[in-house]
Amino acid sequence: MGVPTLGCDCAVCTSQDRRDQRLRPSVLLRWSSPGYGSEDDQAAQERAVVIDTGPDFREQALRNGLTRVDAVFYTHGHADHILGMDDLRPLSFTAFREGGPIPLYAAPQTTEVLERVYDYTFSPKATYPNRARVKLEPLTERTTIHGVEFQRVPVKHGEMEIAGFRFGNAAYLTDVSEIPEESFSLLKGLDHLVLSALRHKPHPNHATLEQAVEWAGRIGARQTWLTHIAHELGHVETNRSLPAGIALAYDGLSILVNLDALKAEATVPSE
Ligand SMILES: [Zn+2]
Ligand SMILES: [Zn+2]
Repeated sequence: MGVPTLGCDCAVCTSQDRRDQRLRPSVLLRWSSPGYGSEDDQAAQERAVVIDTGPDFREQALRNGLTRVDAVFYTHGHADHILGMDDLRPLSFTAFREGGPIPLYAAPQTTEVLERVYDYTFSPKATYPNRARVKLEPLTERTTIHGVEFQRVPVKHGEMEIAGFRFGNAAYLTDVSEIPEESFSLLKGLDHLVLSALRHKPHPNHATLEQAVEWAGRIGARQTWLTHIAHELGHVETNRSLPAGIALAYDGLSILVNLDALKAEATVPSE
């Protein structure tokens, strides 16, 4: 819901600590890759991939000086993860001039929601001239964007199966209520794990803080960052209660990840 939560005056919603002010969850991954445009152009080009464009996407893009998007991956079709899609428009016009529409990778269930919500963008009958230059692409097990591989990690969100993602030595799993056994094997050797933890009180579609801490221990990333945090969890006091290597993330948190790690790992024969 974002924090402050509308209509609430609890201690976290009125906190002056900026880390208690939370926009809807999303991740921006940036790197530079050579050889942009043509074979002989070896100048490094910045690449940017976004996971989910929630209702706060525009604000997040402004805060982080986002000037391009090479691809978007969607975890699922809930409002807090898709309602900023239309704000890709200006960046999509630039992408379109440079080569083509921005690819949006989504599972069938999510694609169906995006097509319904944004029918003026995706309908074959759409006539709105300034619609986003974006193209829905099927989400497969592995997708490579300018040399960086994104591995889909299936997780449960209540009754739904949704997508988490691994890229290099990091993974992003939000809106998780259950991690299937098979998915744990995709999460070995992580340096950074971003994992959702809503609050203490159980919720049918989201893990509690306690459940997330248990999974984090089992996955064993060097550092786990908790996200998708409701207003029940204050930043400072919650972090004080967490074991070493697990902490609440906050808006604007920036970490360095090794994007080659997955490729290296994939060459190791599996047990
Ligand atoms: Zn959701
Ligand atoms: Zn959500």
